[in-house]
Amino acid sequence: FQRLKDGLSRSSTKLTDSITGIFTKRKLDRALLDELEEALIAADLGPATAEKLTKALAKDRFDKEVTSDEVRRLFADEIAKLLDPVAKPLVITQKPHVVLVVGVNGSGKTTTIGKLARLYQGQGKRVMLAAGDTFRAAAVEQLKIWGERANVPVIARGEGADPAGLAFDALTEAKASDIDLLLIDTAGRLQNKAGLMEELAKIVRVIKKVDPSAPHDCLLVLDATVGQNAHSQVDIFKQICQVSGLVITKLDGSAKGGVLVALAERFGLPVVAIGVGEGQDDLKPFAAQEFARSLMD
Ligand code: GDP
Repeated sequence: FQRLKDGLSRSSTKLTDSITGIFTKRKLDRALLDELEEALIAADLGPATAEKLTKALAKDRFDKEVTSDEVRRLFADEIAKLLDPVAKPLVITQKPHVVLVVGVNGSGKTTTIGKLARLYQGQGKRVMLAAGDTFRAAAVEQLKIWGERANVPVIARGEGADPAGLAFDALTEAKASDIDLLLIDTAGRLQNKAGLMEELAKIVRVIKKVDPSAPHDCLLVLDATVGQNAHSQVDIFKQICQVSGLVITKLDGSAKGGVLVALAERFGLPVVAIGVGEGQDDLKPFAAQEFARSLMD
């Protein structure tokens, strides 16, 4: 968790500093609450969460002297409470459990699939990958490399192949090979939203021919560094497929972890894991308390 801590401390330093900078010990009045609310909003926690947190603070402390340490502790506790219900790992319920992985290009989809493959393979599950982003040859190649690294089979076809056909073949193969988890990569060309919507809908339609209950999960991968843009990505992908969970990547960089809190507050979607680096072991289960504390440390 050091990476997450380092990453978040880089981003949260700003938030922590701005909270500390506002006061060391001061009477909690309206002006102070407003300043704190602004600092929270500036750190991407969103207006709703910012209001909730400052209200919780005001509840017992209004008109009393407070220290910045106290405030950060209380905020961390409130954030942990808010995040706790969304901290849910991916649970494999079917055989094969079929997971569609969606998200805009560059969000970290392929990398996340590689990391998930490694994680579940390490737990003794039989994993298979399907290179459904057939639009980009590089994406297919990259997935193959991740598959080799994790030592799991990758079903791929050439550039421009029909992704639905590929998904059909992959699921058929997964059933025949006693696979536990099938992770399907998809294209993320949001500039052609209608086309993407149709493509994903077709993948879903076609894999249902093999298993009517599939896909069992649709994971949306979001890059934390895009800040507020993450909200519109969730909005859009919720229209495209039934998003069942989120993976938030790049929390090791200069990311503002605050956006994760805002997303949890607004959408209540499970955060199944977080990405804290480019390596194969850099996917971590999402732990509410730890995250909240890192954000406020
Ligand atoms: P895709 O287009 O959505 O499949 O995105 P990729 O998986 O190709 O990732 C895009 C870039 O982000 C690559 O350079 C990855 O190494 C990088 N990346 C993905 N996840 C993380 C993460 O958690 N942390 C960091 N620092 N980089 C990441």
